[in-house]
Amino acid sequence: MIEQIDKQYVLQTYARNYVNFKKGINATLFDDKQNDYIDFTSGIGVVSVGHGNKRVADVIYNQVSNITHISNLYAIEPQALLAKKIAELSNMDVGVFFSNSGAEANEGAIKIARKYGETQFENKRYKVITLTHSFHGRTITTVKATGQKSMHTPNFAPYPDGFSYNHTIDDVYDSIDEETAAVMIELVQGEGGVQPFDKDKIQELAKFLKEKKILLIIDEVQTGVFRTGEFLASNLYEITPDIITMAKGLGGGVPIGAVVTTHKDILTAGDHGSTFGGNYLSTSAALEVLDILEETKDSGALDETIIHFQNKINELYENNKKLFTKTVGLGLMRGLRVIDADTLSAIIKEAFNCGVLVLKAGKHTLRLLPPLTISKEEINEGFKRLENALSKIK
Ligand SMILES: *Cc1c(COP(=O)(O)O)cnc(C)c1O
Repeated sequence: MIEQIDKQYVLQTYARNYVNFKKGINATLFDDKQNDYIDFTSGIGVVSVGHGNKRVADVIYNQVSNITHISNLYAIEPQALLAKKIAELSNMDVGVFFSNSGAEANEGAIKIARKYGETQFENKRYKVITLTHSFHGRTITTVKATGQKSMHTPNFAPYPDGFSYNHTIDDVYDSIDEETAAVMIELVQGEGGVQPFDKDKIQELAKFLKEKKILLIIDEVQTGVFRTGEFLASNLYEITPDIITMAKGLGGGVPIGAVVTTHKDILTAGDHGSTFGGNYLSTSAALEVLDILEETKDSGALDETIIHFQNKINELYENNKKLFTKTVGLGLMRGLRVIDADTLSAIIKEAFNCGVLVLKAGKHTLRLLPPLTISKEEINEGFKRLENALSKIK
């Protein structure tokens, strides 16, 4: 039923699994046939406070019962409070622009970099350097910012100029020229394979770019909002980037993105805007999400969950060395490198049949992004099901 309607009326841009989820409680999902699944995906890092979160649901209900949307022609109280909260949690002197998605947040970051390059140097600077295994979004500009060659299909050409790619952090230094305005990277490459960079290398790059007055943009669309154990991966790496972008986990499922920058005066009235960005609905939801996650962090519960999850991954890895080559990732952004792409596809399929939802990243990485509020029981059950799935692969 759902499959037929979907195939007839929805553009088929996704390779979909036709399960029909009806209810969610924290990291557990139920389909229309009463099957339950442990969710190690959280909607690709989005449902940070779990499914059916009562506190977020109540805040959203109360907000939309009054005002859902007013437009950015007027001040929006929860938007201002959310910007303040993000600044406080990041421990940086920043201003925030709100968008509706990660790609849009990165577009905003690139616009700031372009205007900075135009106005802050004697010659016009417009180039942005990114990395080959990066992922920055699906709009025409952010797909070009994404380094993976396969994303630059001629189907959508021409793309905007000014992007170039490096394989490693070490390579970035040599490719900087007098037209470089910014370097944009993830601290843990998500889609690229759950690959964290060395803290030393990142700190060194940040220092070098600051001296050269070239902007450092950190794409925290996936790593932000406590995913790595700290509010921002930038906090974990102890750097203060010029621009940080966020999205996925920020609204707990309500679409919201944010461009966070220490350069509060580059964009001025009329430079940038969004109809929906930062409205009452998304910002009030995000405020509650941040309150919940701050409590989870401060109580020590988040750190405990991370340690327990990591122990379970290590156990799974030790028990299945025929399938996995190593474990990767940080916090609750974790991966297992699989011996080959076919085995990875088989694992994802078998995991689903055994009642646990998992993701892939790149060609070889089994990726796990559970809700940050996942319980110990859900973790144990999820790994039990994953072991069961793997036993059917060997
Ligand atoms: C998901 C993701 C994006 C794109 O976010 P959308 O909300 O899908 O536009 C950009 N950058 C990174 C690092 C991501 O993980």
